[in-house]
Amino acid sequence: MKSIVSIRYCEEYDHQILRKSVENLFSDCLDVRNLISRGQKILLKPNLLRSARPDQAIVTHPAFVEVVAEILSDCGASLSIGDSPPLGNLQKTLAKSGYEPLMKRLNVKPIPFVHKKTIEFGDDRIYKRIDLAQEVFDFDRIINLAKLKTHCQMTLTMAVKNLFGTVIGTDKASWHLRAGKITDNFAHVLLQIYQTIRPDFSLIDGILVMQGNGPNSGEPRHVGIVGASRDALALDSSITRLVGFPLESVRTCIIGSELGLGNTLAETIDVVGDALVGFPLKDFKAPKSMSMAWNLSYWNPIRRFMENHVITKPQINFEACRNCGICMNHCPPKAISEVNGRMIINRKKCISCFCCHELCGSDAISIRQPYVGKLLSSWSR
Ligand code: SF4
Ligand code: SF4
Repeated sequence: MKSIVSIRYCEEYDHQILRKSVENLFSDCLDVRNLISRGQKILLKPNLLRSARPDQAIVTHPAFVEVVAEILSDCGASLSIGDSPPLGNLQKTLAKSGYEPLMKRLNVKPIPFVHKKTIEFGDDRIYKRIDLAQEVFDFDRIINLAKLKTHCQMTLTMAVKNLFGTVIGTDKASWHLRAGKITDNFAHVLLQIYQTIRPDFSLIDGILVMQGNGPNSGEPRHVGIVGASRDALALDSSITRLVGFPLESVRTCIIGSELGLGNTLAETIDVVGDALVGFPLKDFKAPKSMSMAWNLSYWNPIRRFMENHVITKPQINFEACRNCGICMNHCPPKAISEVNGRMIINRKKCISCFCCHELCGSDAISIRQPYVGKLLSSWSR
């Protein structure tokens, strides 16, 4: 059966304009009154990577979340917002990211993810157990509120990747470490989480998005769309096409489709809503990183060549670094250490997960792509 994806224009975060666009997303995909009934406990799961102003395009814009919450509240739902930001606690992140007024107005409760529930998987899956936030399972419905951003490891972060926030705190780093440099392994982690949580409806804030080296320090860019679907993989793959990236570059879409978790091929999706002009975008900036799957030992000459000349790597800008230690404390393989008052990356240990780049609040970590890597990237696009 085909999946329905709705994409609508929405030029700005003006409340009236957003309300109309988001109402259209719902009505294109489902009857919200069939999904939500009076008194149901609903979890809203936005992208709250870190405390950030909405105009930085790092978090799901509070105006977008407010309109969704308003529509659900009109149906009599009891609303909560939950996440496990990698840095800082949920309440501070919500306050600093501009969520407090909407939560007060619509009586939305904050739900920090703190208790773990172990999910077991069958022998056919790569990872046999994953600990997720127990709190997620206490709700009748989950509404996934993703932000469209580039992502140095996964190319784009959208609806499926947004659910990684249900892994609690430092467990996120452990998963990066277990998946290592193999992007497909990390895609499997994300898909096993998606398979478990299965949000009832996923929406994407694609109005002010992030391009370049996201998801933390890329460039904000106006795209002016919002999207939604009950099938998060169909939504992610449709958005990938709209920004002009090859579907192959978003490994969760490719592997998710192979595993039968959703539709990603164009012929298996009905894209409804506005007839978009000017899409796919021709100039949406990709992250410098390249997805690579390789399993060679450190001393293998092919691997050494790739490490030195192909693979993108984080690079610390000492001028901008304020020695806060966040990158060092969150680097999964402990590849960063302080030497003579400077943060130094050990290349042999680095698994190119870009957690350091994602978490640095000073924009002090850039992505360096060797010359051969640049050439290969330009040929492959
Ligand atoms: S997180 Fe950024 S500012 Fe903090 S030590 Fe690392 S590079 Fe420096
Ligand atoms: S240095 Fe950065 S990219 Fe390398 S492993 Fe550590 S956190 Fe990941």
